Amino acid sequence: MDFSRAINRMVDEQIVSRGIKDLRVIEVMREISRHLFVEEALRSQAYNDYPLPIGHGQTISQPYMVALMTEGLELRGHERVLEIGTGSGYQTAILAKLAEKIYSIERISDLASTARKILDELNCFNVEIKIFDGTYGWKEKSPFDAIMVTAGAPEIPQPLVDQLAVGGRMVIPVGEAGLQDLFQVVRNKEGLIKKNLGGCRFVKLIGKYGWEDKD
Ligand code: SAM
Repeated sequence: MDFSRAINRMVDEQIVSRGIKDLRVIEVMREISRHLFVEEALRSQAYNDYPLPIGHGQTISQPYMVALMTEGLELRGHERVLEIGTGSGYQTAILAKLAEKIYSIERISDLASTARKILDELNCFNVEIKIFDGTYGWKEKSPFDAIMVTAGAPEIPQPLVDQLAVGGRMVIPVGEAGLQDLFQVVRNKEGLIKKNLGGCRFVKLIGKYGWEDKD
């Protein structure tokens, strides 16, 4: 099946028309095939305007949300990026094409290994994945020029703030379990500047500095 028309329609109708302006983000959203990151039975829905299940109660994010979050990191190509929540690896692949090195943490090992396989097939060899509680960050590899959190946090985990370089950007959904606001957080010498990018709905960030694991 040829998905190229569906990809271009998704980018034009869901991403460009909603105000995403970063040309590098727009280009890479055309380049990376979202259908590769979902199971066979869901492939015909891969370019629709919503998240899709990836197993273990988790989701691949809505394409627009991926574009908005990526744009919020203001990547130019030289950055070292920390991603919390590898999930399907779709967002990771986008980041891998836009920055120098990606450190991605996922707490569910099954998801991490499926993502690793697809990322290797796409030659995303600048991605290192660790199975761990990402709310601790990845101290040995810090500081990071950019941090992306792809699950909803009750508040911004302090270790992530500590591991963000001065001048660095973090994008993180913060709020209640079922409804959050997406924040771009910029760290400068004086502290943090927070900008609300709008409402969103993410699965829970579970861990020491996130939500408690109740299952
Ligand atoms: N960006 C991903 C994609 O494109 O497929 C979607 C990620 S999904 C919305 C959120 C992911 O965060 C899930 O895979 C979940 O297991 C993971 N997660 C939740 N809490 C985590 C934590 N403390 N550390 C690492 N991963 C976590």
